[in-house]
Amino acid sequence: VPTRAASREALLDRRDNAFATVQEHYFREPPQIERGWQNHLFDTEGRSYLDMVNNVSILGHGHPRLAAAIEEQWRLLNTNSRFHYRAVVQFSERLAALLPGQLDTVFLVNSGTEAVDLALRLAWANTGRRDIVAVREAYHGWSDATDAVSTSVADNPNALDSRPSWVHTVAAPNAYRGQYRGPDAYRYGEDAVASINKLAEAGHPAAAFLSESFYGNAGGMALPDGYLRAVYAAVRRAGGLCIDDEVQVGYGRLGNHFWGFEQQGVVPDIVTVAKAMGNGHPLGAVITTAAIAEGYRSQGYFFSSAGGSPVSCVAGTVVLDVLRDEQLQENARLVGDHLRTRLLELANRHPIIGAVHGMGLYVGVELVRDRSTLEPAPAETAAICERMRELGVIMQPTSDRLCVLKIKPPLGITIADADFFADALDRVLTEGW
Ligand code: PMP
Repeated sequence: VPTRAASREALLDRRDNAFATVQEHYFREPPQIERGWQNHLFDTEGRSYLDMVNNVSILGHGHPRLAAAIEEQWRLLNTNSRFHYRAVVQFSERLAALLPGQLDTVFLVNSGTEAVDLALRLAWANTGRRDIVAVREAYHGWSDATDAVSTSVADNPNALDSRPSWVHTVAAPNAYRGQYRGPDAYRYGEDAVASINKLAEAGHPAAAFLSESFYGNAGGMALPDGYLRAVYAAVRRAGGLCIDDEVQVGYGRLGNHFWGFEQQGVVPDIVTVAKAMGNGHPLGAVITTAAIAEGYRSQGYFFSSAGGSPVSCVAGTVVLDVLRDEQLQENARLVGDHLRTRLLELANRHPIIGAVHGMGLYVGVELVRDRSTLEPAPAETAAICERMRELGVIMQPTSDRLCVLKIKPPLGITIADADFFADALDRVLTEGW
C-alpha cells in the first residue's frame, strides 16, 4: 500500500502528464487539498491550513447555504441563458442596486477575463476608437485583448515588449517604491493626465482608460488621493470612457468600501466584477449605463451560453445574501484593522518588513533586504511562504518583484485566525526560514 505522501507525488506526476504544465501550482511540494471548511483547507494527510490567500472564496469554503441553493437550482433547472427565467432578473436587479443610479444595466459572463474583454468591446463599440490607456504592472486577464492590457511581469516576463500599438501604458502609481513616493505620489495622476492629453492632441484620443480602483498587484495599495478623479476627468474631456476593474478589490473586501472606486470618490462608466461574486462558482459581470450597453448593438447581439445561467444567478444571489446576513464587509473592516495593527507591530521588530499595504482584508506585507534602498526580497518571500505552509498557513507572494505577501482571506476570518497568522509570521521571521 503506497504511503499518502507517495500517492500525493504520483498524483502530481499525473497532473504534469495530463494538465498543461504552463498552469503552475502553488508551492514546491504542494499539499493535496481535498476539502475546505470556512477559513480552513484540509489535505489528504490530515493537516489543516488557515487559508489567507483565497480571494475567490469570500464566504469561506463549503458554505452550506450556497451549497444547498446551488443543489436545489441544479435539480430544478439549469440551462442556456437565452431562456426567460426569474433568477437572472433577480440577480441583475440586485447587482445594479449595489451601484450608483446610472450604472443600471448588467451583462453576465463567466470570469474576470470575459468581463474585462467585454468592457473593452463596449468602449470600442461606443466610441468608434481603438486606443486604450492602461496602468503598468496590472493583470486583467488572459484573452487576446485583456492580455494586451496586462503588463504585470509576474505573469508574463515579456509583458512590456509585446504590446499591440493600441495599448498605451502609464506608470504604476506605487507610492512606496515607484518614481514618486509618499507626498509626491499625486504626480502619478498629473503624468497620466498628460499622457491622455498627448494622445488626444496627436489625433488618437483614447476609447477608454482601464485600471483597478485600488492597486492590487502591489498587495492592495490605495491609489494616490485624487488619482482617478483627475484621470477620469481627462479621459472624459477627450470623449473616452472610464473602465474600473473591481475583479479583485470590489465586493466588500476593502471593509470601508464595497467598491474600490468609492475610495477614490469617482463613478466609472463601466465596472467589471468576478471572483468573489460567485465565491468560486464561475461568474463575472459588466455593469454599465443603459446607453453604453445599447452601444454593443453595433457589434451584433451579445450572448454567453452559461453567463447568467439559472445556477450561476442563484449562486450570485446567495453570495450577496450571505455577505449581508453575516456582515462580512464589516468583519473585513474589523479583522482587517486588527491584522494591520499586528503586522505593523511586527514591522517594528523585523527589519525585513519594509511596509504594510492595504485596507480591510486586502493586505500586502512588502519584504525588503534594505529599508533605505528598498531592495526587494523575492527569494526570502518564497521561502517564508513555504515555511508558513509548514506551520499551517497558506500564503503566497505577489507584485512584479514577488516580494509582497498577499493577504486576501475569506471575509469571515476571525480575530483568532488573524492572530494565528501574525504569530506564525512572527515565528518564521524570528527563527529564520
Ligand atoms: N482582473 C483582475 C484585476 C484580476 O485580478 C483577474 C484575475 N487575477 C482578472 C481580471 C481575470 O479574472 P479571471 O481569472 O476570472 O479570468
